[in-house]
Amino acid sequence: MARAAAGKPKLRMTGLALAALAGIVLLRWGALSRQKDPAIGQAALEHVRELTAFGPRPPDSPAHRNMQRTIVGKAEAAGWTVEQDRFTADTPVGPTPMNNIVAKRKGRSPRVIVLATHYDTKLVREFRFVGANDGGSGTGLLLALAPVLAKRNFNHSLWLVWLDGEEAFREWSDTDSLYGSRHMAAKLKAEGTAAQIGALVLVDMIGDRDLDIRRETNSTPWLTDLIWRVARRLGHDDHFVNSSHTIADDHLPFLAAGIPSVDLIDFNYGPNHRYWHTAEDTLDKVSAQSLQVMSDVLLEVVAELDRQ
Ligand SMILES: [Zn+2]
Repeated sequence: MARAAAGKPKLRMTGLALAALAGIVLLRWGALSRQKDPAIGQAALEHVRELTAFGPRPPDSPAHRNMQRTIVGKAEAAGWTVEQDRFTADTPVGPTPMNNIVAKRKGRSPRVIVLATHYDTKLVREFRFVGANDGGSGTGLLLALAPVLAKRNFNHSLWLVWLDGEEAFREWSDTDSLYGSRHMAAKLKAEGTAAQIGALVLVDMIGDRDLDIRRETNSTPWLTDLIWRVARRLGHDDHFVNSSHTIADDHLPFLAAGIPSVDLIDFNYGPNHRYWHTAEDTLDKVSAQSLQVMSDVLLEVVAELDRQ
């Protein structure tokens, strides 16, 4: 009896402790799931479907101009203030008009968080290159995030950036590549606004069915760590793996301008990277599930950066 009597309050204590634990777990789950929006993956895929239907979208093509109108129209409809920065790039195929599109949402603090991608597709004359993943997936994801982010409250300002001219016209080199990001980074530096940007998260080729994002070695370490921590917390560490790679992409000019930047890219596209820059980079290779994983992580990352 004495043992049972002593046992009863202990049981009650355990019950209380369990209830408290369940409460904490629920609160924590609530805090995490508040950022998520389960409809974004599918919405992003629908945007990718629409833009790949435009056909190849190299700078200064009719489809590229359609793409610009589409991005501006959708971002404005979602409530963003959209700026277009038109410039002429000196390329191996001659002077080429380009346009960086920046959707802005003003916060209470002067600090800016940037989500960026490129919307051009590589100029290919030998076959029809529609860049569903390369140029398409990031563009579609940012378009799907736009209406969701527009409705949320943030302390910092938020920019969604669709960069032009990421691709080389001939051979990739320092001068034949990254036209849009080099132009924008130089402009931010000249204006003195580069210092206001707290973080820039670049997404490129993130729609692959077999999503495998590795740490990119040029990227800012604390920002990479923050993203991998978030991915692990959300249970997405099977997609955000712990190996690393080194990629030249649109984050480089921003890093050179002193802006903390990270490149999220799955540069293992298809068996032996077979779909990259080929006629096989088509809509069927892109998955709503992968876009959803990216959305889950990005929404949580933005919320976390906003608390800094
Ligand atoms: Zn490419």
